[in-house]
Formats: sequence, C-alpha cells, structure tokens
Amino acid sequence: MSENQQHTLMDKIISLSKQRGFIFQSSEIYGGLKSAYDYGPLGVELKRNIMNEWWRSMVHERENIIGIDASIIMHSKVWHASGHLAGFSDPLVDCLISKERFRADKAPQPKLGDELPILCMDKGQAKSFQEIIKKRFNVELKRNGKKLEGLKVISNDSFGFFTDDSNTPLETFQFKGYVSPTFGSPFLSEERQFNLMFRSQIGPVDVLNEISSFINKSEKINEKEIRSGIDEIIKKSAVYLRPETAQAMFVQFQNCQQSMSMKIPFGIAQMGKSFRNEITVEHFIFRSCEFEQMEMEFFVEPGTQKKWLEYWRDARMNWWQSLANNPNKFRYRPHEKDELAHYADACYDIEYEYPWGYDELEGVASRTDYDLKKHEEHSGSKLSYFDQQKQDPETGKNGWRYTPYVIEPAAGATRGLLVYLLDAYHEEKIPNSDGSESSRVVMKFHPKIAPIKTAVLPLVKKEGLPEIARDIVSKFFKAGINARYDEQHSIGKRYRRHDEAGTPYCITIDGQTKEDGTVTIRDRDSMKQERMNAENVVDIIQKKLSLS
Ligand code: ATP
Repeated sequence: MSENQQHTLMDKIISLSKQRGFIFQSSEIYGGLKSAYDYGPLGVELKRNIMNEWWRSMVHERENIIGIDASIIMHSKVWHASGHLAGFSDPLVDCLISKERFRADKAPQPKLGDELPILCMDKGQAKSFQEIIKKRFNVELKRNGKKLEGLKVISNDSFGFFTDDSNTPLETFQFKGYVSPTFGSPFLSEERQFNLMFRSQIGPVDVLNEISSFINKSEKINEKEIRSGIDEIIKKSAVYLRPETAQAMFVQFQNCQQSMSMKIPFGIAQMGKSFRNEITVEHFIFRSCEFEQMEMEFFVEPGTQKKWLEYWRDARMNWWQSLANNPNKFRYRPHEKDELAHYADACYDIEYEYPWGYDELEGVASRTDYDLKKHEEHSGSKLSYFDQQKQDPETGKNGWRYTPYVIEPAAGATRGLLVYLLDAYHEEKIPNSDGSESSRVVMKFHPKIAPIKTAVLPLVKKEGLPEIARDIVSKFFKAGINARYDEQHSIGKRYRRHDEAGTPYCITIDGQTKEDGTVTIRDRDSMKQERMNAENVVDIIQKKLSLS
C-alpha cells in the first residue's frame, strides 16, 4: 500500500469514527487532549462487544480459567517488585543485551583496568548473549561456562575488547562508568529520567506543604539534592495508575487458586484500563496514554511451558481471525533472542497488517517463574503450588511444591477495536434503479461485535407505522438484542447510515405491514431484502445472529 493510500485509509477511519460516533477526540471543545480519546455511542458498544467476546471465549467457555477485576491503584510495592518503579527522579538505563532496566546511580562501578565479565544465568543464555553481542557490536566474546570474557575498562570513558593474545584492544566502546547490576553488561542505552507510569498521591497529607517547608529549610543544596529530597517526600504517599493489568493476577495468585480450588494448569483473566505516559503516541488509538487491555496469566508446571505457549499462540490467533473479514492480515512473529525480556524464554507477537505495515496487536509470552518469584521475594508471602499427585523431581518423594511457570496472552482491547474498524471498512459501488452507479461505505463488522444488531425503520413517520416499529423494537429489547428505532431522513439515507454504523440487519415497516403483517429484512452485506411475518422477526434475527 502506498504512503498516500495509508494516509487515506486512516484518515477515512478517523473521519468516519467522528461522524458516526465511534471515537471522538477527548475534550475536543477545549482544543483536544493529545492521545486521549472518548468512545462515542457506537464505539462504546463495539468496545464492550469485543471485550465481552474475549471474556466469553477465555473465561465462560473454559473450566480452568477464572476472572478478576482488580483495583487500578495498587500498593506501590507491587511496582517495585515488578520492576516498573525503578525510579522517577532517578536516571534509568536499559541493558542493550538483556533488556534489564535499572537505576544508573545504584549500578556497580568497575574501576580502570577492571575486567568486565558478563555473568549469565546459564550456559544457554551465555551462548545467546554472545550471539547478540556479535551481531550488534561485531565482537565475539569468549565463553567460559556461564561467563562471557574479553572486555576491560581502559579509561574513564572507554572499555575495550581484547582476545587472549592481544595487549591492545581490538575494538573500543564508550564506557558510562557503570555496568548492569544483574549481568554486568557495559552495553547500555542512554540515561533517561523518565517513568511510563502516571503518579498520584493517596491520603490526607498535603505533600506541597512538606515540600515547601523542606525547600525553605534547605540551605546551600544543589539541584540534584533538592530533587532527591522532594522525591523522598513524594514517595511516602505515592500511588500509580497501573501500566498493565497483569500484576494483579500474580499478586492474587494464592487467593484465586485457593478460593476456587484451582488445579494447575489454570488461568486468571482480567480486562480493563491501563495507563502509560507514552513518549510517542501514534496512529490514532493504536498507542494512547489510556487504553484497555485483555490479559490472562496461565499457570503451568515447569517444563510444560513450550507446549502451552504454542497452545495459547494458536488459540488467540484463531480468536482474532474468527471475528475478522480478512484473516490473512494477521500473522505471528516469534521474538528474536535479542528482543526477549531477560525473564522470558520465548514470545510471539500476534501482528496485524495496519495501513503502515505489520505491527503488534497481542503478545503471547512465556514468562517463566519470574513474576511469582519476584512477588514472593518482595512480599515475603509464599506464591507456590503443591501438587500431591506428582513426585518431586529432586527428592523423588511423593508431592511436589513448585513455583508455577506463566504463559501470558496480553492483548490490547482498544488496539483490537482499531483492527476491527480497519477490517470492517469497505467502499462499494452499487447499482441504482435507473442503471447508474453510486457508492456506499459499509462497515462489515462481524454481527457478534456490531454495535447495533438491528435497526427498525418505519418507511414514513405517520399512518401508524412508527407505533408498529416501536412495538417491534421493544420486543428486541425484551430478547436482550441491541436494536434501534430510527425514523430520521429518507429510507435510502437511513440504509446508508446503518451501513456506515455496521448494523447487520435493517427491518422496514411499510404500508403492506398494516395490510398483511409482514416487514422486510435487509441484509447489510448483500443488500438483499426478504419479506417476512413481523411476528417472527425477533426469532429470525436471533437465529441469524447466533449462526454468524
Ligand atoms: P508496544 O510494543 O506496541 O508498545 P508492548 O509490547 O509494550 O506494546 P505489552 O506491554 O505487551 O505491550 O501490552 C500488551 C498489549 O497491550 C499490546 O500488544 C497492545 O495491544 C496493548 N498496548 C500496550 N501499550 C498500549 C498503548 N499505549 N496504547 C494502546 N494499546 C497498548
């Protein structure tokens, strides 16, 4: 697709979203808030339908998955344990090899002449880090068991790569004066004073008072000291808007497992709002600061994670495709070793072909036992599972206590909504009765997610037709089907409007209805109209919806 076409399709979606009431710019009358969006009358239905379908397929249709709805604001220790809270006023750095994120000011600081061994978890990781370093920095470090060797600090701001028989470095790199705490890696990103989480304060204490008296009392302290003093004050009552829904499922693992007597393998699912102060917000609702996620943590026995990762990768892919017109636009992308977070042993992205190219829609990650272990370590609570039926592989005795491994399918609900808007958008030429052609825009949503399931349209606003139409609408309401009464404008305009809203069926009440009790049902996609008895219309639509 050319760049022009990409823009046009996104522009058309953005404009249709506003016109038809799917998505509006937040606070538009005040000039709009960048990267925040409001879901309008049709958007809220579409979003709920997508999320309800997800819930149905993940929770209601599976005996081994249970749901929770946790609070958005959690104890700040949760974010310490998960690693999200590495620092606010502190410089953050990422290790380019392991993806470990850490505070630069707390990192180990090797001295001039020190060797810089990279210390891996195991030999496999050593091999993979060796390959990543070779690919990105063009030096092949020597593997010595779990260690990678050959790097040494050669000045305050440089380190070199040496082989066994060389005294002068074969390659030099910029040294930041510190290495990553877990792996000792000197291959690091630039420092950033930034945290993706939105911070607020909880409780009755007025931090502004404390801060102003701290500044008032402080004499001759530099800017850095003021910053860290203020940070200490703020930290005491700081709370954060969750940047993902996942952590609550780890923190509530024990409560969920015990209250519902769940046996491994089992999952905990949650959907809801997440917040990230994204540096780059882009492509309409694709990346925004406030968005909705649909995540599930599936707890499995160590050693079975590969099988379950593949299972969930396929199950999730099938789900996205089952609601789409174009299943070919979805694909998997396995993560390269150098892309994997240091705690993950494998990951697939489910990608969609957006107008700008393939990009992420959902991540399905094998997260090992990292999350439960981290929360166990930070909280002091046991987050393990006891399987009476299994033998402990180490002792050979009956009964095995272990920390479960986790497979996490993490999807964006609002990103999914964008995908289904793009997938549904069709422009078609249609023949007029006089032989000429006109065009229509039709949103071919899967009926399960279509915002309005059926519109009931009296041909004219008189002669008793509105009363008959309203009576039919109330029958739909009783049957739990989202129907809409619509009498504004000519019938042709109303059909066009409901094509753009993606309403699968329009029911028209006309003069003949009064004579023989029949109505027409118009199919959105084929535009074919069938006449049938008004008495049966709710049953017929119900059947059509359940078959689709
Ligand atoms: P990306 O690489 O696109 O930033 P991520 O890998 O950080 O996403 P995860 O943390 O894995 O995302 O979150 C799971 C899903 O949540 C993503 O696949 C995406 O669909 C959705 N998501 C994440 N960040 C945003 C955002 N800022 N706006 C909308 N959806 C998002």
